[in-house]
Amino acid sequence: MIVVKVGGSAGINYDLVCDDIAALVREGNPLILIHGGSHETNVISEKLGKPPRILTSPQGYTSRYTDAETMDIFAMVYAGKMNTRIVERLLKRGINAIGLSGLDGRLLVGPRKTSVRAVENGRQILVRDDYTGKVESVNTALLDLLLGAGYTPVISPPACSTQGEAINVDGDRAAAMIASAIGAKQLIILSNVPGLLRRFPDESTLIPALRYAELEQALDFAEGRMKKKVLGASEAIAGGVEQVIFADARIAQPVRMAAAGKGTVISR
Ligand code: ADP
Repeated sequence: MIVVKVGGSAGINYDLVCDDIAALVREGNPLILIHGGSHETNVISEKLGKPPRILTSPQGYTSRYTDAETMDIFAMVYAGKMNTRIVERLLKRGINAIGLSGLDGRLLVGPRKTSVRAVENGRQILVRDDYTGKVESVNTALLDLLLGAGYTPVISPPACSTQGEAINVDGDRAAAMIASAIGAKQLIILSNVPGLLRRFPDESTLIPALRYAELEQALDFAEGRMKKKVLGASEAIAGGVEQVIFADARIAQPVRMAAAGKGTVISR
């Protein structure tokens, strides 16, 4: 089983990703797809007159401030537009895709954070009306049921809090939880960069391979949202996944290329 996460940043070519996924599924490789939607959420938020607000934790991790109104927009874009259009692309290519958010059937469950610490203008603040959290359990029975019946699950945030609320969770870390929970050998994380770059944005500084033990160090040159990918990779490996591969979603056959080792291959 391959678990593929495709990001939501600008420049990602979803047609190329879906061409490749459809071919792989047709060839008899069952697969689970998780996707993002950050860029589109920013665009729609601006259009709706509620520009995104990004929180930075004291450790340097960034996240979208998600109050109830932002969650409406978040769900409209992730579970609505992005999910529907990816499912549509796969259906057109003959694949029986089924779209699910983490709420459906309590697919992705975890605690909502009671408060979020952030640094703004050099001082620490505590944000209390944020609907964010972290996936701690995956409804693998639901995934098995769908895969067993020949469906290809297409999964997006939000997830479901333990109280049944919609919560914003990081897609890369959710994908790591899914890959661990179903015992996947590979987790492929596709984005708008060729992999982890030692000196972002210089693509000639791509790091071809990393060991689990080196991930802590890798956090030093992973900036912004790349930090959470590195964290997700370390969680996946700790959860039993053999390889996590960061690879380019802008090229032809992105999943096959990644599975063959093109990108940054992280292994135990
Ligand atoms: P997605 O939404 O596709 O999952 P993100 O935007 O969350 O992807 O993360 C990928 C981004 O991380 C890249 O577009 C790049 O701007 C940023 N980044 C920061 N540091 C690095 C690095 N060292 N190597 C590669 N990308 C990096």
